[in-house]
Amino acid sequence: MTEPAPPPHTSRHHSYICNVCGSDHVTRDAWAAWDMAAQHWVLEVVFDQCWCHRCMSATRLDRVVLTSPITFAAPDPAKDRVAGVKLP
Ligand SMILES: [Zn+2]
Repeated sequence: MTEPAPPPHTSRHHSYICNVCGSDHVTRDAWAAWDMAAQHWVLEVVFDQCWCHRCMSATRLDRVVLTSPITFAAPDPAKDRVAGVKLP
């Protein structure tokens, strides 16, 4: 038996936004490996390099807490910043 999914607006759900423009249209470099049994690509590793598709440049990401399924709170520099995501 599986636990029911929590509501999508709980504090455990978050998103990542560009720390320059605030867009959530951001991606990270990653490798996908072919899973022969599942017959699809599976994410194997995610790298620190981040890209903002609005700025069209490399960026850093801020982690933000979702306040509803489609909105998020402003980043709190004191506690929600992603310390591990830095550009070289
Ligand atoms: Zn941006």
